[in-house]
Amino acid sequence: MIIIKNEKQIEGIRTSCKLLAELFTKLEEFIEPGMSTWDIDLYAAEIIRKMGGNAAFLGYGGFPGSICSSVNDTVIHGIPSKTEILKDGDIIGCDIGIELNGYYSDSAHTYAVGSISNEAAQLLKKTEESLYAGINAAVRGGRIKDIGRAITEYLKPYAYGIVDSFCGHGVGLDVHEDPQIPNYYPSRGMNHRLKKGMVLAIEPMINLGTHEVEVLDDEWTVKTEDRALSAHFEHTILITDDKPEILTAL
Ligand code: MG
Ligand code: MG
Repeated sequence: MIIIKNEKQIEGIRTSCKLLAELFTKLEEFIEPGMSTWDIDLYAAEIIRKMGGNAAFLGYGGFPGSICSSVNDTVIHGIPSKTEILKDGDIIGCDIGIELNGYYSDSAHTYAVGSISNEAAQLLKKTEESLYAGINAAVRGGRIKDIGRAITEYLKPYAYGIVDSFCGHGVGLDVHEDPQIPNYYPSRGMNHRLKKGMVLAIEPMINLGTHEVEVLDDEWTVKTEDRALSAHFEHTILITDDKPEILTAL
């Protein structure tokens, strides 16, 4: 069931999303070579606690981290680890959700660690731009699949793999709600009409090589099948009468 949010719920979700956007700004400053993904998890968890919220992913489906930290060829759902040390030239995707007073936000950003290759920098830039192409297509009266189609069309000039085994989703009163939002096209599933008051997480996962992925034996970590780099950007947005409102942007 797709929940159309009322004004009170939207206000609550908006506040949760703003805090998450602030956290991402802080992470940009914080992340540097030599630290572990566990250090980043601890830092983020501490900030979320100080904000009065809870890390929404901790314990969700049994996930052991406060954040998902996905380095280089890890697409999503990387588990923070004391032994995983960031090196100059790495990229790291941080995917974070905050629960604040029962309202959920969800956003992801892939950061450069130190100085990265041109190829990696281009992947980050184009993935983030494809997210905005998807967001711009999320307008009242349009349909869910317009989003993945815009992302796919935006990336057409580049030989990237667009991950099709994971989707965006509704969000706000829970971590994951209906509907599923494919970040690619063509796609299966329902093609619901977009309505004012829907809150959606759009999250393209884009690979330098094949779009195929593999889930590791820990049953969380998703890696590219060919171990090429992968980037992930995500925003929580609100469908309005006009342009979509990006709730997880400052
Ligand atoms: Mg997320
Ligand atoms: Mg999400």
